[in-house]
Amino acid sequence: MPNLYQHTAEPGVALPMLDGDWRAQVVIVGAGITSLSTALHLAEKGTDVVVLEAHEPGWGASGRNGGQVNPGLKHDPDAVERDHGVELGSRMNALAGSAPAFVFDLIERHAIRCEARRNGTLRAATRPAQAEQIRRTMQQWAQRGAAVEFLDGPAIAEATGTARYIGAMLDRRGGDLNPLSFSRGLCRAALAAGAGIYGQSAALDMRRSSQAWKIRTATGTVTAAHVVLATNGYTDDLWPGLRRTVVPVFGAMASTTRLPDAIAAQVMPGRSVLYESGPVTVYYRVDGGGRLLIGGRGPMREISSTSALPHLIAYARRLWPSLAEVEWSHAWGGRLAMTRDQYPHIHEPAEGMLVCLGYNGRGVAMATVMGAQLARRILTPSADFDMPVTNMKTIGLHALWPIAVRAVIARGRLSDFLGVG
Ligand SMILES: Cc1cc2nc3c(=O)[nH]c(=O)nc-3n(C[C@H](O)[C@H](O)[C@H](O)COP(=O)(O)OP(=O)(O)OC[C@H]3O[C@@H](n4cnc5c(N)ncnc54)[C@H](O)[C@@H]3O)c2cc1C
Repeated sequence: MPNLYQHTAEPGVALPMLDGDWRAQVVIVGAGITSLSTALHLAEKGTDVVVLEAHEPGWGASGRNGGQVNPGLKHDPDAVERDHGVELGSRMNALAGSAPAFVFDLIERHAIRCEARRNGTLRAATRPAQAEQIRRTMQQWAQRGAAVEFLDGPAIAEATGTARYIGAMLDRRGGDLNPLSFSRGLCRAALAAGAGIYGQSAALDMRRSSQAWKIRTATGTVTAAHVVLATNGYTDDLWPGLRRTVVPVFGAMASTTRLPDAIAAQVMPGRSVLYESGPVTVYYRVDGGGRLLIGGRGPMREISSTSALPHLIAYARRLWPSLAEVEWSHAWGGRLAMTRDQYPHIHEPAEGMLVCLGYNGRGVAMATVMGAQLARRILTPSADFDMPVTNMKTIGLHALWPIAVRAVIARGRLSDFLGVG
């Protein structure tokens, strides 16, 4: 069973495989949001850029995610400034806080058809300690001028149609979109601006010789002064050690068929998107077609049947008992990349090489702005990133991480997903 978006997204462009030996100024590996935003921003400035994708644009997390366009980083604004100093920290907060506006403006500028809505993001608490934390987060963003407000129990019950939450932050900067349509729309815009994008063209190896990078696929090569690796949770061994700097975690999604009107009016009537606080996040939204899409952690493998996600479906029915009558049509998963410090990582491990990955489940808005930042750095080498550039650090005992992740998920599923803890 393919993912829902393959039925609901705008059609993609048929792309050729790389064929023969090519030269460009920049070659980018991967064709998700990071890559396609980079390619678009470079091509718009007249840079000759080639994108190599192992499958097709949006095949990775970018075309499978929850579609939530969320502002901010994982950490609260004060913590970001504490961790990175006020100067860089405030630039990081400004970048991440304005990322949704950047996405919606880009969509408008390129007339990308992707069901984009600025309906706001809700961050919801089920426990008093979480509500307190959310209040602090809200105050920190309010001090920085963001359009945020705290909803108490009755207000969040009205916004969601469930009595599960004791409080939430409504952040009006956020919203949602169809992520596969967005990825395909970025691809179309980058092609129109002059980028060369190749599908079914996995980069098999990369070498540096005479001041340029040469990337080889099964059917051709690209030689370029700059290379960008934008492979996030699907990072392989193309660059030694990179795969072990992040923990690839499978996220899972399930969707209903179109909700009957009476139920659609009860479930998230304000049509904001919501994600829960807590160690294992559950997030959901009702899309433009009136389907409920709910996401959370699932099995650490690809899934295609709703029978793989009984916990998510049970949880949704607990939130809105009227869903007992509703059919669940699709289930799917994808890999996101977690970093140990929960910040996105930018690396410049060699001359002419840039890497950006590790959005910790917040890549829709962040990957889009990071694409613009990567392009700016290539065009103006003296331009600083509004995010730290760090050395690659591999995670010790990386092979054991899936076990640790499973343990957290198992705990979270019992206590948070089913509320028995
Ligand atoms: C189930 C799920 C739900 C999520 N929900 C949300 C959400 O609601 N909101 C949010 O902000 N974020 C969400 N995320 C995270 C978000 O989707 C990612 O952070 C973002 O899409 C990362 O984009 P990317 O371009 O960096 O990587 P990806 O989109 O994963 O793209 C990487 C690409 O690299 C290609 N590739 C890898 N190796 C090679 C190679 N050697 N040669 C050529 N190509 C290669 C892959 O084929 C893939 O297409 C979710 C993720 C998942 C999995």
